[in-house]
Amino acid sequence: MYRRNNEAADRMRERRRAEDAAPRLAEQVPSLKTLRMSLSFRRGDFRIGEASYVRVVVVATAPALFTIACTDSNCRDGGHQITTAMLKALRAGLTEFSGEEPCRGSIGSSGSACGSTLLYDAQATYEKG
Ligand SMILES: [Zn+2]
Repeated sequence: MYRRNNEAADRMRERRRAEDAAPRLAEQVPSLKTLRMSLSFRRGDFRIGEASYVRVVVVATAPALFTIACTDSNCRDGGHQITTAMLKALRAGLTEFSGEEPCRGSIGSSGSACGSTLLYDAQATYEKG
């Protein structure tokens, strides 16, 4: 358990470092005003209802980095990397878009694929002109 906690702390530090080093969202998409994301997850065809949540992104300070943590606590090195897809949609000025991205982590000592999939819906508004 102790080792696991350490790994979690390491991952958290790693994540903070990556976020600090990333360019700001406001620099990458200067016209972006607000961004709201609805996140939910499924495993196979089974929707994990209680894991859904809404994230309101603080555009002024947010890093241009969209890595959503895997909801499975047994998942190792997991996470949903949607930075490229998000930035592409935002640069294109889309006001509503959605997508899905599988987790690339593995479960347990057997190393079988996690199989959790993130479903996201985003709503964005932009400065005119
Ligand atoms: Zn996972």
